[in-house]
Formats: sequence, structure tokens, C-alpha cells
Amino acid sequence: MLKLARYLKPFALMAVCVVILTLLQSLAELALPSLMADIVDKGIAKGDTDLIWRTGGLMLAAALGGALCSIVSGYLSARVSTGYGKTLRHEVFSHVESLSIHEFDTVGTSSLITRTTNDINHVQMVTLMMLRIVVSAPMMFAGGIILAVSKDPKLSLMLIGTLPVLAGSIWFVSTKGMPLFKALQEKLDKLNLVLREGLTGIRVIRAFNRVDYETGRFDEANRDLTQTAVKVNRIMATLWPVMMLTLNFTTIAIIWFGSHRIDAGNLEVGGLMAFIQYAMQILMSLLMVSSIFVMLPRASASAERINEVLTKLPEQIEPGSPGAKSPCHGYLEFQDVTFTYPGAEEPAVSGVSFRANPGETTAIIGGTGSGKSTLVSLIPRFYEIDSGCILIDETDTRDMPLTSLRNMVGVVPQKAVLFTGTVAENIRYGKADATDQEIEKALETAQAIDFVIKMEGGVNAFIAQGGKNLSGGQKQRMSIARALVRKPRIYVFDDSFSALDYRTGARLQAALKKETEDATVLVVTQRAATAMNADRIIVLDKGTVAGYGIHRELLKTCEIYREIVSSQLSEEEIA
Ligand code: ADP
Ligand code: MG
Repeated sequence: MLKLARYLKPFALMAVCVVILTLLQSLAELALPSLMADIVDKGIAKGDTDLIWRTGGLMLAAALGGALCSIVSGYLSARVSTGYGKTLRHEVFSHVESLSIHEFDTVGTSSLITRTTNDINHVQMVTLMMLRIVVSAPMMFAGGIILAVSKDPKLSLMLIGTLPVLAGSIWFVSTKGMPLFKALQEKLDKLNLVLREGLTGIRVIRAFNRVDYETGRFDEANRDLTQTAVKVNRIMATLWPVMMLTLNFTTIAIIWFGSHRIDAGNLEVGGLMAFIQYAMQILMSLLMVSSIFVMLPRASASAERINEVLTKLPEQIEPGSPGAKSPCHGYLEFQDVTFTYPGAEEPAVSGVSFRANPGETTAIIGGTGSGKSTLVSLIPRFYEIDSGCILIDETDTRDMPLTSLRNMVGVVPQKAVLFTGTVAENIRYGKADATDQEIEKALETAQAIDFVIKMEGGVNAFIAQGGKNLSGGQKQRMSIARALVRKPRIYVFDDSFSALDYRTGARLQAALKKETEDATVLVVTQRAATAMNADRIIVLDKGTVAGYGIHRELLKTCEIYREIVSSQLSEEEIA
């Protein structure tokens, strides 16, 4: 909780106002019983109408003033806490966006969503309560005790008996509740996970008739969450009855002993009434504190989860060599690169060396799981390599600012990802200030213009979440256009033509060839037909280079390449 407090700074002034206002409000509330005692004991008892009017006026003023303070502080504290929540959400989101892919994977999408919404809500709610209670409760407590003692010190001894009961029950509840609250948030994560999978995978689930299984899985997570929630709330629910019971018994006891003291002439009726109210205020302030204690465990479990995200180190540290000139040719070189996924036992890529020059196309071919996607994801530094180095124009990519490195590389990922918005907005992900002509040109080269024109609204046509209103091949062409529009020095196509029919694929490659004439092009593929026209071919097998050269050479020297080719092409085509 404390670590998150620094984000409260912008709201400090408003928070101080809230504190002052609640302070004034509690002062007004403390004044009321004494004034009332005056009216009863000095005014009514002695028939002093003047005093009744004067004191009555004061009571009215105190009541109105207190109400006004309460309204304004209520408004301000709502502003502070919602603003705080907004800041936190912003911080978490922008931090998550800067995390390395690996760290992103370790927390998980579902949990990140819960942390950005539900967890922040808890912290926000407890902040609101704290603001209003943190000064007023101690104030009411201390003020109440002082005033009660001043009315009747002997009767005040009554309160000593009740305080331990209240303190004890607060302690019991918060120690029991804390671990359960933590578990509760984890179970919420689990529920979100199952829900997300069930929703995004709805087609697969229906196709394989797994609806019952998925429903069962959801029910289980749901039941698990419910059971823990019930358990927590059962503990929490004991607090109020215990508190109220203590409060009411205390009142009875005060009236009982107080009436004896009035009989003996030690106390007046007004004094007893005021005393009861002070006792109420004291116990009420404890109740308020206890309600914070109910929420605090949950909020601090949440705060911990938020903090865990915020303290994760962002992606690779930016290199501190501003003198490094940003390269502009696009000579790409891998020198003995080895990379292991964090937590994996064997390297996904090991000892890979090759060179790719501007104006040339380098094909990377290999079976599924041979490390092709991993290899190309190392170029924009999505992951840190274990050993070796990747050079662009003789500069180690680790010595380049990440933004300029990534501006230079245009990646078309294996799985086309589109965002909700229009076609043009999606293409502008590649280049924010792209003109309409540039967008059209890119769509044309990517062979996407035909179907885009047919969509309602053309380039302003709407693309649904995840590009659901497009076919796989259309999505691939859109994401190719997105990479083309930024005119990078290095193009990486990761199996980007796999969902295209042969004719479209051939047309696209011909158009690409013209467009990317002097750029460095890396094409990851499983199709021999695509690979064989490349200037250079890298054959990957289990993360290592099994062959490197041109089609003719590889046919003679590389067994694996020969297998791939002969399984796909006829004898004439190979020659
Ligand atoms: P390809 O693109 O050639 O089909 P990949 O590069 O995707 O192959 O995968 C190579 C190997 O790395 C596979 O064995 C796969 O299980 C593993 N792998 C891929 N992505 C991850 C990841 N995010 N974490 C751990 N292992 C991974
Ligand atoms: Mg792949």
C-alpha cells in the first residue's frame, strides 16, 4: 500500500482539504451532545428560555456546518480516489507495455487484466475510506473519551471493559482474513483465465463438442472462487454483530449505572444523555476503524499484486552510447547466436551464423518447431540472446536504441494480429503519419487492395476485434501492408504467405520483389517453391543450421533440404 502512495502525490492538496474538512465535521459532532446537555440541565430544568434559544441556535449551526463539511469532503474524496485509480491503471498499463515478452508471459494476460481492473478498484476503495476515516476516527475516539470523562469519570470506567472485546475481534478478523483474501484474488485470476479461453476458443470448443467440458471447468473455477468468498465473508460478517452487541450492552449498562448515579445526585439527566452519545461516538469510531480493517487485508493483497507488476524490470536497458550512429544500410549478420527460452532445457536456436545483405532475399526453411520464428524474433530483440551477437551494419543490436532498431525492422509475424479500428488505422500502426497514397500503395503491393475496396467504406472499413471479419489470408496481407508502409531496411516475413493460394502468393511475391528491391529481406517458409528462388537459403533443423547456400548447392549437399524439396516438388520443378 505504502509503495503505491507515491502515485497519490498529484492529489495531495485535495486530500489535505478532505482531512481538514472531516476534522471540522468531527468537531461539530463532538460539540452537539454537550450543547444538548446544557439545554436539558441548565435550560429546561431551570426554565431559562433565553439559554435554550442561544444554545439551540449553536446546535443548529454546528449541525449545518458539519453537514456542509461532510458533503464537500465526500465530493473531494471521491475525486481523489477515482483520480488515484486512474493514475494507477495508467501506470500499470504503460509499464506492462514496456515489459519484456518473457516477463509478460510469466504473469499472464488474465492476471494482468485482473490486476489492472479489480485489484486497482480495491486499492481505490480503501483509499477513499482511509481519507475519510483516518483523522476523524482517532479524533472522535480521543475527543469522545475526554468529554465523557469530563461528564462523569466514574461512569467512564464502563468503557474500559468494552474496548478489549472490540480490539480483540478486530485483530481476530484481520489475521484470519488476510491469507484468504490473497487466495481470493488468485482464484479470480483463474476464473478469468478459464473465461477468456472459453470465449476466445468458442469455435474450437463447439467443433470438438467440448462445451460440457468447458462449462465444467468454468463451474469448478467458479465454485472454488465462491467457496473462498463465502469463507472470507463469514469471518468478516462476525465482526458487525459482535460490535453491535457490545455497543448495545454498553448502552444498557450505562443507563443502568447512570440512573443510580442520578438517583444519588452525582449526575444530571442531560449529562447522562450526553454521556451515552459520547460512548456511542467512541464505539462508532472503533467500528469505522474496524471496517477499514476489513478492507485493508484485501486491498493490501491487491496492492502487493499491483506492485509486483510495477516493480518488474522493464525490457532491456537502453544502451547508454548516444554516439552510436543509427545504421542505414541493413547489412544483417548473425555470429554464432545461441538462445534458450527462459525455463527451457535446450536452446531453441544454437550456434547460428549467417549474413544477409541489402538487395538480397534470404529464405529460412525448416520443419515446424525447428526454431524459425524464434530466430527471427531475435532480430528486433524481443528476447535477449545467450551468446554470440547480432549485427546490423557492423553495430551490435544491443548497442542500438530499441526504438531505432525496431523502426529499421519490419516484422510480419506468423500469426497476423489486427486491432479494432479501420483498415487505415491498422496500416498506420506501421507508420503513424502515412498518407492516404502511401497506404493505398502498401495495400496494392500486399495484394490487399482488391478486397479492401470491396469492403464497405474502403480503407475506412471497420475491422472487428482481432480481425474476425477477415479471412486468414486477408489478415496476412493486411499485416504485410502494415510492414510495407514503414519502408524498413530489413523485412522479416515469418511464414506470411502460408494462408494465401498459390496464385495470390506468386503475385504478391513478384510485387514485393519490386518494392523491397534494395532492402534486406528474410523470408521464413515451409514451402520449397518459395525458398528456391531466394538468393540464399538457410536450412534449420532443431535450432541449428543444417545447410546454408543456394538451391542447387543445397540439393547436393544437404540431406534435410533434399527431403523437404522432394516431398513438395516434382523432379522437373526441382531442376
Ligand atoms: P518454428 O517457427 O520453426 O515452427 P519456433 O521458433 O516457433 O518454431 O519454436 C522453436 C522451439 O521453441 C519449439 O520447440 C517451441 O516449443 C519452442 N518455443 C517457441 N516459443 C516458445 C516460448 N515462448 N517459450 C518457450 N519455448 C518456446
Ligand atoms: Mg514459426
